[in-house]
Amino acid sequence: MAAGRSTTRARHEASTWAIARRSLRGNGLQQRGTRHNGAVSSLDPAIAARLKRDAQGLVAAVVQQHDTGEVLMLGWMDDEALSRTLREGRVTFWSRSRAEYWRKGDTSGHVQHVKSVALDCDGDALLVRVDQVGAACHTGDRTCFDAGDLGAAVGRR
Ligand SMILES: [Zn+2]
Repeated sequence: MAAGRSTTRARHEASTWAIARRSLRGNGLQQRGTRHNGAVSSLDPAIAARLKRDAQGLVAAVVQQHDTGEVLMLGWMDDEALSRTLREGRVTFWSRSRAEYWRKGDTSGHVQHVKSVALDCDGDALLVRVDQVGAACHTGDRTCFDAGDLGAAVGRR
């Protein structure tokens, strides 16, 4: 009986893969619910259904220091990066320049410990509240916005 069950399961998995592959060929874009390597993501389908991804299958992730409110950086997540971020207590992005998953701090030591993750009203952006170790920016600045003031005219209400 155990053999019968595993055969059924294998057949189910094979058909799931076939459907995923057909869909990928069908629209030529990153398929919803898949990783960038084409495998099915582990993201909760109920959450995946709420995401409004761009043409590359990504949503923007604004990262904020949980206690000071500092806006630290902006990164990009596909379904799998979001799934890992929700499960691991560490922030993972999809690196568009390197085309690979990137868990913040693994090489730099500048770890982001997750406090909360929220989806915005229309599903195309995430707010990731973290406890940031050291610098959030690869330049060594605390935030990516420290050196970028554009001198805007200050409005009054
Ligand atoms: Zn930066």
